[in-house]
Amino acid sequence: MINDKENVFIVRCGETALKGQNKPWFERMIVSRIKKVLSGFDGVTVERADGLIFVRSPLSNDRAEVLKRAGRVFGVDSISPATEINISGMTADEVINEVGKAAVDFMNGIIAERGVKTFKAEAKRGDKMFPLESPQIAREIGARVLKGCRVLKVDVHDPDVALHVNIRRGFAYVYDKKLSGFGGLPLGTNGRGMLLLSGGIDSPVAGFMMSHRGMYIDAVHFHSYPYTSERAFEKVKELAGILSVYCGGIHIHSINLLPIQEKIVQNCPEDETTILVRRFMMRIAEQIAKKEDCMMLITGESLGQVASQTAEALVVTDSVVSMPVMRPLIAMDKTEIMRIAREIGTYEKSIEPYEDCCTVFLPKHPVTKPKLEKILRSESALDVEALVAAAVESDEVTIISPQDDL
Ligand code: ATP
Ligand code: MG
Repeated sequence: MINDKENVFIVRCGETALKGQNKPWFERMIVSRIKKVLSGFDGVTVERADGLIFVRSPLSNDRAEVLKRAGRVFGVDSISPATEINISGMTADEVINEVGKAAVDFMNGIIAERGVKTFKAEAKRGDKMFPLESPQIAREIGARVLKGCRVLKVDVHDPDVALHVNIRRGFAYVYDKKLSGFGGLPLGTNGRGMLLLSGGIDSPVAGFMMSHRGMYIDAVHFHSYPYTSERAFEKVKELAGILSVYCGGIHIHSINLLPIQEKIVQNCPEDETTILVRRFMMRIAEQIAKKEDCMMLITGESLGQVASQTAEALVVTDSVVSMPVMRPLIAMDKTEIMRIAREIGTYEKSIEPYEDCCTVFLPKHPVTKPKLEKILRSESALDVEALVAAAVESDEVTIISPQDDL
């Protein structure tokens, strides 16, 4: 997919461009993140220049992998593999000749690769001191390509290839592809959140979405060992591993909820089991979040998806915590959530059939419109504080380091 002519990757930062005075800071965050995800490669340089980021990698590296990793850094809007031409000290005529030659080479490469027949040339003059204006540059380079690549014809409306030429101070660039990144904001620009991570489809997507807005993520996972298996927890760790590619390292706090579930089953109405368990989950998650300097809780809930996610149930669940609860999937359909899960690579792992603590004591007819007063009455049969404290005390931490092999 990347040929030897494409000796540089031009990275464009999306929304970061809107950040006014903070723009350099956001860009520097993106640069340092790109450097981090490419630290395993030799000789890579990452450089910021006039609103763009240039990634240069020796041809000996697996540059498809370099491209893939840089492309999933949050804040990256798009990337173009390009030919870079050093034009410093050249006259305008020399520049046009050199860039023209490079464009012919570049297009010949594409013709051999993809058998294209039509093209149009588009130019941008990043260096406003350059004497030719953009349309003139496009015309000059287009004419040279037509001459140098006999099989090509110009089609300005629906070309097989749009050849882009960008003349900047000291360097010129020729490229055709613009590969989309995830956009968003660079990791580390928006605090830290505690994700309630199950083994399902939704919660990994929720974590991804918050991280996509610059938030570092830690996770809490509830299990009901021995009703839930070691293997079920392995699956959660693997999901966190996939997320870490985007979100950086993740600490998973695992909590055995079984003692609390047993107390609820023994002392409270059966149809309220799920909502009562969820209130405990939120309380415990909040305590751990505070300890870990997380500012928010994050769940994969979506309005109306199941009994515990009706509007009434969410209000009753939320009322036990004071920390804001982020639900990035709240208004999304399952099909859309599944699409994102596939895109980020968590879907196949999520659908592996392992038990979840929520399914261990599933009531036959869960309440869908719980009343807070009634729930509070049921909870008064429990020593809530002591149960939460014991659960928090039993926290076991697993550190997931960023793994870069999807
Ligand atoms: P998911 O696909 O993420 O499992 P779901 O559609 O199965 O979500 P629920 O099981 O009702 O929905 O869970 C709603 C949310 O509660 C999850 O997205 C997650 O944030 C949290 N949650 C559920 N089970 C657990 C668990 N075992 N540990 C941690 N959080 C959980
Ligand atoms: Mg679930």
